[in-house]
Amino acid sequence: MKNVFIAGGGLAGLVSACLLARNGVSVTLAERKSYPFHRVCGEYISNETLPFLQSNNLLPDLPLPQINQFQLTSVNGKAAELTLDMGGFGISRYTLDYFLYQQAVSAGARILLNTEVEAITFDGGSFTITIPNQNLKAGVVLGAFGKRSRLDVKLKRDFIKARSPYAGIKYHIRTDHPAHRISLHNFKDGYCGISQVDGNKQALCYLTHRNNLKQFGNIAEMEKAVLYKNPFLKSIFENADFLYTKPEVINEISFERKSPVTNHILMMGDSAGMITPLCGNGMAMAIHSAKVASELVLAFWQQHISRTQLENEYTRAWNKLFAQRLWAGRQIQKLFGAEWTSNLAVNLVSHVKPVASWLVKQTHGNAF
Ligand SMILES: Cc1cc2nc3c(=O)[nH]c(=O)nc-3n(C[C@H](O)[C@H](O)[C@H](O)COP(=O)(O)OP(=O)(O)OC[C@H]3O[C@@H](n4cnc5c(N)ncnc54)[C@H](O)[C@@H]3O)c2cc1C
Repeated sequence: MKNVFIAGGGLAGLVSACLLARNGVSVTLAERKSYPFHRVCGEYISNETLPFLQSNNLLPDLPLPQINQFQLTSVNGKAAELTLDMGGFGISRYTLDYFLYQQAVSAGARILLNTEVEAITFDGGSFTITIPNQNLKAGVVLGAFGKRSRLDVKLKRDFIKARSPYAGIKYHIRTDHPAHRISLHNFKDGYCGISQVDGNKQALCYLTHRNNLKQFGNIAEMEKAVLYKNPFLKSIFENADFLYTKPEVINEISFERKSPVTNHILMMGDSAGMITPLCGNGMAMAIHSAKVASELVLAFWQQHISRTQLENEYTRAWNKLFAQRLWAGRQIQKLFGAEWTSNLAVNLVSHVKPVASWLVKQTHGNAF
């Protein structure tokens, strides 16, 4: 059966839908929501993705802010700056995912919107996919259902058994933040990123331990009591225009290890492993893993490699490209969210720039 089913339509799912459909593969993708929609994401994409996105026409023709300056502030508001070697650009997921969805449709992919995948089973060399009121069949399934999904429970994946203490909260704001800068402001048990995106606005997105929310009962009270202790954040919250009536919120964000192949499904993006958001590299990893998985799926049919070879080769490539970055991200996150360690990180960025640049590099890949 030379057809591919993709579970989930974020960056990983949409990019692979475009690549495979453009190469003549019959593709069906199911996404539980409907485009365009906002997501909890800082919306800073590493420039390592640019050659691939540009050469495959996977970026909308819009003026996009180029970001090459990094500002870090500690819990008590000490600040340092670093020039980024690779840098990145800003684009809202509302804009980017909608554009990629349109590209996938025009390439011939069948996209099922408002459709939650309920189960995926593998038997006798092919997959059965359960969506509401229907079973579908496919020769290959790509998992692109993000950081946490009911499908993880169905597939009995180990990481889903443990609760995760992190929540993510995101706004679009308008403030006088310089377009070439990404800022990362620490607060107690969390950190908040701000950078420019398309449409002359900024994404403000933070990760917090759920104890902060529990202690203060609601988001607004927590922001005043905890985030405002960092003078940079206080000033932004008090002076910026907030463009949503309420923020986007997600809970239970896990950075635990996952497997890049589960039940013969090739997992891409956050479904294979989520890098800590401070690295600003999750989107690049989602896009890159979609490229690698799609190329191997084409080889599976065109060069007749076996399913075992497909799975082994994908696991090998995934580990080589991403495993070290995920580990580095988990270690660096330990410096964030506490007064003395965040001051230590600021001192490092201020006084030992080569080491700080080296650390940033550990969480990024090469241009592809
Ligand atoms: C607070 C925070 C800030 C971040 N900031 C940045 C940043 O600045 N830069 C960066 O590069 N990365 C950042 N990231 C990480 C980045 O958002 C992710 O790595 C990236 O979105 C992963 O893409 P994906 O395609 O794997 O998953 P997603 O984009 O999450 O897409 C998964 C899709 O699957 C769908 N889905 C789930 N279950 C089902 C189902 N059963 N059936 C059908 N559809 C389903 C969901 O609706 C969703 O649309 C941040 C993450 C967080 C939490």
